[in-house]
Order: sequence, then C-alpha cells, then structure tokens
Amino acid sequence: MSFLQKLSRLLLSLSAQKNFAAARNSSMQACQSLSSIFPGHVSFPHDQVYEDSVSSYAFIGTRLRPTCLVTPRSTNDVAVVIMVLGDLDSVAFAIRSGGHNTNNGFADAADGITIDLSAMNELVLKRSPDSISVGPGARWQIVYEALDPYNISIQGGRNGHVGLGGYLLGVNFEVVLPPGIIVNTNATTNADLFAALKGGLKNFGIVTRLDLQIFQEGPIDEELIETLSTFKEPEKFDPHAMFTLGFLYDTTTRTFSADIAIVLASMHWATITFHASRTTLIRIHAAFQRTSLALAESYVSANLTIACSIQSVPAATPASNSNSLGFEPSTRPKRRLFNLGIAFQYENPVATEGLGTAIMIFARELDQIAREDHADDGHLYLNYAGDWQDVLGGYGTEIVEKMRRVSTKYDGSRMFQRQVKGGFKLYKE
Ligand SMILES: Cc1cc2nc3c(=O)[nH]c(=O)nc-3n(C[C@H](O)[C@H](O)[C@H](O)COP(=O)(O)OP(=O)(O)OC[C@H]3O[C@@H](n4cnc5c(N)ncnc54)[C@H](O)[C@@H]3O)c2cc1C
Repeated sequence: MSFLQKLSRLLLSLSAQKNFAAARNSSMQACQSLSSIFPGHVSFPHDQVYEDSVSSYAFIGTRLRPTCLVTPRSTNDVAVVIMVLGDLDSVAFAIRSGGHNTNNGFADAADGITIDLSAMNELVLKRSPDSISVGPGARWQIVYEALDPYNISIQGGRNGHVGLGGYLLGVNFEVVLPPGIIVNTNATTNADLFAALKGGLKNFGIVTRLDLQIFQEGPIDEELIETLSTFKEPEKFDPHAMFTLGFLYDTTTRTFSADIAIVLASMHWATITFHASRTTLIRIHAAFQRTSLALAESYVSANLTIACSIQSVPAATPASNSNSLGFEPSTRPKRRLFNLGIAFQYENPVATEGLGTAIMIFARELDQIAREDHADDGHLYLNYAGDWQDVLGGYGTEIVEKMRRVSTKYDGSRMFQRQVKGGFKLYKE
C-alpha cells in the first residue's frame, strides 16, 4: 500500500476516532486502527509474528506481552504510526530495535503497543563519502558480515546480537518526531537533537536510519596487540583505541575465568565508573570474588554466572560532533577512567528478585570502594545501567536541562515523555 493510501486510511480512521474518542483511547482500539491502516503488519497474542517477536528478546525477563505489535517496513510507516498514537494520548507504546536491553519494560509495553523495528534492517553501502546507511532493526553481526568482504568496518557493538537502534552511533540519524515529521539530524542540521539522542535515546522520537562512517581494516598483527596494551601511554597514544578486561565466576562449574560466554537466559546489569588505580582494582577484584562465592552458596540451583567487564573510557567526541553523555569534548581519553559493567546471568526465574537486590548491593559496594579511594566518578554508562540507576543524573544538571529544552522544541506535546514507558526519562512521573 502506498504512503498516500495509508494516509487516507489514517485520516478516515482518525475522523472515526474523534466520534468515539473516550472509548477508543485504549490500546486494543489503537491496535485495531493500526491494523486497518497496516493490514498484515499488526499482530496479536498467538499470531506467529507476535510470538516470534516476543521470544526474540534476548533475555527471558524482558519478554513482555503487549496488546499488539506493529512492525513498520519504512520510515513513512513509522511516521503514520506516530500520527495515530499521537492522537491517542493514554495509549502507552515502546520502541524496540534489537531487543537486547536487559531492563524489563525498556523496549516493550506490557499494556500497550510495541513498535518492533526489526524489519527495518536494510543496509546500503555508499562510496562517496564512504559511509553506510542502516535501518535500526539491523544487528551489529549482520553489518560486520556485510562489510567484511570489502575489508572495511565501522565502530560498533562488541556483541553481534545487539541491535543498532538502542545503541546510537553515527554521523547522521533520520528521526521521526511527533506528530509524524521526518527529519535528519547531524552535526550541522538539528545538531541539538543529534547530541541529545546520543545519551537520551527514546526521549525524543524514533530513529529510523543511521548513517555510519566506515574505515578500511588493517591486519590484526602484533603491532595492534602492542598498541592495545600500551595505548594510554603518552608516547603511543591512540584516542580511538579502547580495551576490555573481563573476569567471570561460573557458579555451576565453580570456576573463575575470563571467558564471558552469554547463554541468553535472564540477566541483571549494573554499572559504575571509576578511576582505576592498582589499589582500587585489587579491592574491586577482591569484592568480586567475595560476592561470587557468597552468591554461589545462596543460589545453588540458579546456574548463575557473575561477570565484570572493565572498559577504558575513550576520548569524548569533539564539540563539532557532540553527544549528551556528560564528558567534556576532548581528543584525549580521561586518564585511567574506566566503566565497569556487572552482569548477573541466571536461568532460574525464582532468583529474579533476590539477584535484583544482590546486584544493587554489589554495585553500591564497588561504588563505595571507589569513593573511599577517591576514585569515584558520577557517570553511569547508559547501555550497562540497571533501571534503578540515575543515568541522566550522571550527565549533570546542565545537560539534563539542555535535553529537556530539546524535548520541548521537538516534542512540544511531550508524547515521548508520557506515552513511551520505561527507562531513563527526562521527567520523573
Ligand atoms: C550480551 C550483551 C553485550 C553487549 N555488548 C555491548 C557492547 O559491546 N557495547 C555497548 O555499548 N553495549 C553493549 N550492550 C548493551 C547494549 O548496547 C544495550 O542493551 C542496547 O540498548 C541494545 O540495543 P538494542 O537495539 O538491541 O536494544 P532494544 O532493547 O531494542 O532497545 C534499547 C532501548 O533503546 C530504545 N530504542 C531502540 N531503538 C530505538 C530507535 N530506533 N529510536 C529510539 N529509541 C530506540 C528502546 O526503546 C529501549 O529503551 C550489550 C548488552 C548485552 C546484554
């Protein structure tokens, strides 16, 4: 169906809704309206498309059951969905790309509508300038595999199963804003929105295309290994390099290891940021061992693994391509600044609540160690944070105020504040 056909169906549907506004302001009726505009692209519980989508969320705890699921195929489809939902202000909705966020309700709406972008995964390689355009529903693995034959790559996620939409990087984003307007955002056009999206995610609109810069790959040889091991030393400094160090305890096999295998069961995540010194790292590692052994005793049948990954914080992007993560623009990484991602992965759902509390206690203990060593830092990495953590607060008041002004400018009706539920919102309800 063409965009004009969808639009005329939409106008008919909206005029019908006006007559029954109060009664129609429910998720089910919104689903029916969407279904008449997008026949075949709205699915309900027990439909194969719906069940496949629910079970494709990476973690069992995040598999909610929305009233219906809409699967747009194009940016115009997304614009029409936003127009419909904007008229039904009590209907909650969620935006989902890869479905890889570990927090319950961030990318799914139990009593509302989930906009599943996974069908919007097209990848177009452009040669002038060298870049690719990718739909938000693509996963990093697909993108890397598509670029591999050309010996080129992009800066992206470590884990190939993660989606692009919940992990916004790039030189330009196409975004659908209320009430269904399509805009581009980059360092020069709508630059305030571009910066706000990198750190503010779904607070403003739906990203429908990411344009990413590509680079030519070199061989992975000893020179690269040497660079990685010494990259923060001034004489070999490379602002684009980062490294990850991981340690893990598997309570089933009762082993410590460095092999972070992901089973995709249930997960709780949390994060802290700290300035690493030898003393702080030793204390953090000791706390990790203590907690791992204690939890192994308490959660014998949960098949629990406890992993900590420590990643260096790279240089913040320059002011000409800013984000909202709260770091000063710089060409140099913060000396010794690291984020620590904590992941509790387990298989027994009975353990959910207890381990949810345990990860909070553990994160606070690590934060306390960093504070005692005067090594703490207020930033919390958005993509590793638990839903109880104040990620936006870590960006600083000034940035939150700036993001609020961006929200007022691009979403005057506050649709994305009121109707999009779950996670790191600009205004507390
Ligand atoms: C095993 C594992 C490995 C990981 N590896 C990395 C890593 O290497 N580096 C890293 O930084 N992070 C990593 N993460 C974290 C990951 O980046 C986040 O979970 C990210 O949010 C997932 O993106 P997604 O598209 O799959 O998310 P989704 O769950 O689909 O969405 C996450 C959030 O983004 C919003 N959102 C999604 N798409 C859009 C859109 N198009 N427009 C506006 N808002 C949108 C959703 O509403 C939701 O709030 C990892 C997570 C796990 C569990």
